[in-house]
Amino acid sequence: MLGGSARRMEQVRPEVLQRAVRFSRVLSLLAAVAVCAILTMTVITIVLSRQDATEANASTTENVLQFAALELADDIGALHTMLVDARSVFTDRQSWSLTDAQLQRWMQVRTQRGRELEGIAITDPGGRILLSSYSDVPADFTVDDRDYFVVHRDNPSAGLYVSLVLRNRFTGEPGIMVSIGRRAPDGTFLGIMLALVRLSYLDSLLDGGRLGPEGALSLWRSDGALVLRNRVSGGHEDPQGRAISPTYLAQILNTHHGTFDAALPPGTPVRRHTFVHVADAPLIVSASIPVSEIYSRWSHRALAMVLVTSLAVSAIMALTVLFRRELLRRAEAEAQLNELARADGLTGIANRRRFDERLGQEWRRSYRSSGTMALLMIDVDHFKAFNDTHGHWTGDDLLIRIAATLSQTVHRPGDLIARYGGEEFAAILPDTDREGALRIAERILDAVRALRFEDSAGQVLPVTVSIGACALSPSPGQQVADIVRLADAALYEAKDRGRNCIIMAPDMPRVLRPVAEAS
Ligand code: GH3
Ligand code: MG
Ligand code: MG
Repeated sequence: MLGGSARRMEQVRPEVLQRAVRFSRVLSLLAAVAVCAILTMTVITIVLSRQDATEANASTTENVLQFAALELADDIGALHTMLVDARSVFTDRQSWSLTDAQLQRWMQVRTQRGRELEGIAITDPGGRILLSSYSDVPADFTVDDRDYFVVHRDNPSAGLYVSLVLRNRFTGEPGIMVSIGRRAPDGTFLGIMLALVRLSYLDSLLDGGRLGPEGALSLWRSDGALVLRNRVSGGHEDPQGRAISPTYLAQILNTHHGTFDAALPPGTPVRRHTFVHVADAPLIVSASIPVSEIYSRWSHRALAMVLVTSLAVSAIMALTVLFRRELLRRAEAEAQLNELARADGLTGIANRRRFDERLGQEWRRSYRSSGTMALLMIDVDHFKAFNDTHGHWTGDDLLIRIAATLSQTVHRPGDLIARYGGEEFAAILPDTDREGALRIAERILDAVRALRFEDSAGQVLPVTVSIGACALSPSPGQQVADIVRLADAALYEAKDRGRNCIIMAPDMPRVLRPVAEAS
């Protein structure tokens, strides 16, 4: 039952509006799908291009670092070998029958050959230079206060030691000292072998410019001390004394190569640090690039994409909203026109066209559901005479009052009061049986009688109607015209019976309200 009335409510909403609402929903759905697709595409593109930026930076950094690490491994390795060779030659110089002058000459030749090497020297246990590639070292020149000397003197297993950047006290040349210790077979400290690597060589090797304007390459000792940091925009930064942050030191020392993002020192912009250990040397080469620089091109591109996408999405949404609004506006206008085309010009209630449509619909619905429907044909009594007596205008007013009165007598959403023509009205009553139809007809009869319609002089004029009613359940072979014909015949019967009464079809001639009662 509830379903039936809801269905009828739906039907009361104009079809054209329902169609427009359905279409606008589909339109909104399609727009939402388009917006989702555009947003997904944008997000995927932005994420992928960020990955590209990450990979491009990683590949460049790796190439630069590998190059620097290999060069350093080669050169420092060769220096180490040379120092070891020189140490054994110096130790066995008697058996080799080599003079100090010959050894010094060899050192000088070796120094001139390597672009990285500034000089080689051998000290005694007190740090005094015994022999070197330099020709005129003062006799009292010592290096006993230098850290590289102290390390070898105090630690027999120091191996190859690399100093921080220092200036050769003798020549004034800046560089790093590479050294090994000399010990007798019984372990007695005999002095050190040292070679000075030019700073200019390290500078050209650690060319931070290859990593971009803010890229920096650094050389660290494997005890965590910064040896040198090269950066194109800033030149050398003070390398001495700085140490790898303890937070990352263990990770760096325990891994051959790796990458991490950190703000070092804290408070500075976050940089991406990549490091690799130099083979066979206590050295680590690291590169660092501001994360903002790695992604600067990406972030500009992403911003442009976000802007373009926002514009496209806004345009789609705005167009959808405008189109929907326009569609619904037009549908409402069309529905209003349709409504006007189905309304009676004088009384404002449904006209004959609307009546015919609804009657057909209700007839088919009742047929499908095997339900009962009713039709009342209502005709104003002696209306011609009323017109003749009170004038056509007053007759029109009366028709308007009767239409309004009839409309108030039915309450169900599916009920319809229509002007059938002239002074004849009709009521379509879906899902209504004979008893129900009779109740409504009586209500109408009473309501019209109680109308108290006054003429221009204020005198109450009696108004009555006659009603032909028919309630039936459409059966096969019957037509919609049959119910109209039956109700109409009942109406004629009512007129014949003296008016102001109801006749129920098809069991005519049953007079439901005697004429005598109506007076
Ligand atoms: P009966 O009781 O048998 O129905 O008598 P009647 O006079 O009402 O019936 P009849 O069909 O003879 O007259 C109908 C009259 O209704 C004719 C016409 O003047 C009048 N009429 C029809 N349409 C309108 C209208 O729109 N306005 C007015 N004022 N009168 C109308
Ligand atoms: Mg009449
Ligand atoms: Mg009539």
